[in-house]
Amino acid sequence: MTKDTNEEININNSNEQILFLEPVFKERIWGGSHLRDEFNYNIPSDNTGECWGIAAHDNGSSIVKDGIYKGKTLKELFTEKPELFGNIDNDRFPLLVKVIYTKEDCSIQVHPDDEYAKANENGSLGKNECWYILDCEENAEIVLGHNAKTREELKEMIEGSKWDSFISKVPIKKGDFIQIDSGTVHTITGGLMVLETQQNSDVTYRVYDYDRLQNGKPRELHVKESIDVITVPEKDKSEIIKNFSNTAENEMVEMISNSHYTVWKLRVTDTMKVVQDKAFMNMSVVSGEGMVNNYPVKKGDHFLLPSKIAPVTLTGNMTIIASAI
Ligand code: ZN
Repeated sequence: MTKDTNEEININNSNEQILFLEPVFKERIWGGSHLRDEFNYNIPSDNTGECWGIAAHDNGSSIVKDGIYKGKTLKELFTEKPELFGNIDNDRFPLLVKVIYTKEDCSIQVHPDDEYAKANENGSLGKNECWYILDCEENAEIVLGHNAKTREELKEMIEGSKWDSFISKVPIKKGDFIQIDSGTVHTITGGLMVLETQQNSDVTYRVYDYDRLQNGKPRELHVKESIDVITVPEKDKSEIIKNFSNTAENEMVEMISNSHYTVWKLRVTDTMKVVQDKAFMNMSVVSGEGMVNNYPVKKGDHFLLPSKIAPVTLTGNMTIIASAI
């Protein structure tokens, strides 16, 4: 679509409440250029690792790019217009949706739960996160869990840098969906494109960073905190990874629902109606293109359906990952 026709698009009444969002980008030592090559994003450098598509965090907030709230950040709107978000009782927007591309492995890391983060990280939220694998190489693996049987053994393995015996790897493929509870050791390995839905938190404890240097120095590790928060022994992993490649068309397919979020996959191939009865609903187009009512959207676009919006019609040929609390 050319710039001219884009400018002619009017947001009509049914669309004026939808928050179409401009993402923010984060450079990472494990990043690359795929967020531009694959998603056409205007990234700041060839070391870009994260697109924060739906974000209202102190470290980055998406900006409304169209409609009556154009120019406002999502963070501002959450405070100024709580009715758009169902007047929920949260002191901050509860979720954060990212597209992540890793050229190299991320650090081996773990996130605290709400209780630990509140006490030790200036009242921050803890972090549960989940990944929908958009793309990966054949025979790809992620780090998920660990092999220590007791906290003592955990301490010994981490402090003794026994990484080969400590970490546990599992195979993944395109269309897999993975829930990472707080306390779970994990790494998004190199060569992955992931849509991540998570609690609105930026607290990560690095267990090990492969002895890499950033600007000549190793990145900080959080050995004590990691040993504090890692779940020992690890939880049963058999139910953590589920494949959602071939889901039903033109309906909302639930991939997970827990106390922090519900996440759905929508494969739009024709027309479908979304009755938005949650406090708000996040949507990210991860492939193809189509329309939201009469507003065109394509791969890489993120938007939010606010509270009490009239049923929304999706048409076209696209896959959307949606989330709500
Ligand atoms: Zn993580």
